[in-house]
Amino acid sequence: MASLSLQHINKTYPNGFEAVKDFNLEIEDKEFIIFVGPSGCGKSTTLRMVAGLEEITSGTLKIGDKVMNDVEPKDRDIAMVFQNYALYPHMTVYDNMAFGLKLRKVPKDQIDKAVREAARILDLEKLLDRKPKALSGGQRQRVAMGRAIVRNPKVFLMDEPLSNLDAKLRVQMRIEISKIHQRLGATIIYVTHDQTEAMTLGTRIVVMKDGVVQQVDTPQNLYQKPGNLFVAGFMGSPQMNFLDAEIKEKGSDIVAVIGKDELVVPAAKAKALKDGGYVGKTVVMGIRPEDVADKADGSMSSTVKVYELLGAEVFLYFDVNGTQITARVDPGTKAKTGDPVKFDFNMEKTHFFDKDTELVIT
Ligand code: ATP
Repeated sequence: MASLSLQHINKTYPNGFEAVKDFNLEIEDKEFIIFVGPSGCGKSTTLRMVAGLEEITSGTLKIGDKVMNDVEPKDRDIAMVFQNYALYPHMTVYDNMAFGLKLRKVPKDQIDKAVREAARILDLEKLLDRKPKALSGGQRQRVAMGRAIVRNPKVFLMDEPLSNLDAKLRVQMRIEISKIHQRLGATIIYVTHDQTEAMTLGTRIVVMKDGVVQQVDTPQNLYQKPGNLFVAGFMGSPQMNFLDAEIKEKGSDIVAVIGKDELVVPAAKAKALKDGGYVGKTVVMGIRPEDVADKADGSMSSTVKVYELLGAEVFLYFDVNGTQITARVDPGTKAKTGDPVKFDFNMEKTHFFDKDTELVIT
């Protein structure tokens, strides 16, 4: 069993800086957990505490049922893949992968079996006699992965393992890592800045900010049901549009007033806003770019400031009540820079946030 349990984990560095605050997470066997968040939010610190490379200031770390706080890194049954996957330049691919096992005095035939199996999984069989300088970046990355796989660890920890690769290789390796996860059935914790990696690889994503976990959820739920303004703005590219909206009662409707526009809020959301006491108050309304549609009979209007064609889709940028918003529309759109544009928000897809607590209302 390679479940992990992080209970009330805190990290205060010797200079007094609190890098991780009350981190709680139960990870099940075979999960692919992603840590995301802005630079400096404590992702790597948390990963390094799991690896044993950084002391845990307080809290409990368990792997399976065993408390690991004071267990040496080498005895934690964990393999780590870093972004700087320094291979030994004078050694062949085979020896690079075998090295860790040799150090542990694993019998030769067992090493051979492990290296060949890893090479098969990673499609490195034909490259075993090469030195790193005769490999492409992606092949080197796979060798680094191989070094981790041969140890057959309970848990893989990966800290931005693809960040040194160019865009095309990243995509290839991302798919490789996904396959490896399926084949090995391993538990993986993976740190990344990259939205796409997070959304495509993770079974669950942990979003962090300033050392504090903001939300832990499946990629789909994080995208569709963000728990606060930060998560809503962080997940998704281009990011969710945010507009101040005054909530008013109009006849039997609840409307969100944005400038001169009064947008009728769908029933379930209207109820949540009313029950929460938001009538008469200003809240933040969030709407994703794909939920803004330009159409000739749209009820709202503006002027296109920027038109961006990205092949399969077009981004239109325009102001709504003084705030710039982004619409992700069909490339068939007639709208061009400088044109008047009519559009609608898909109100079923809106999110409302409390302006003070920044927590989601509905
Ligand atoms: P990035 O995405 O930039 O790698 P991160 O989320 O992985 O960031 P960490 O490396 O965990 O962030 O660092 C978290 C915070 O702790 C940062 O503000 C960093 O400056 C601080 N920090 C890291 N190591 C130390 C240290 N040894 N002493 C003091 N502060 C540190």
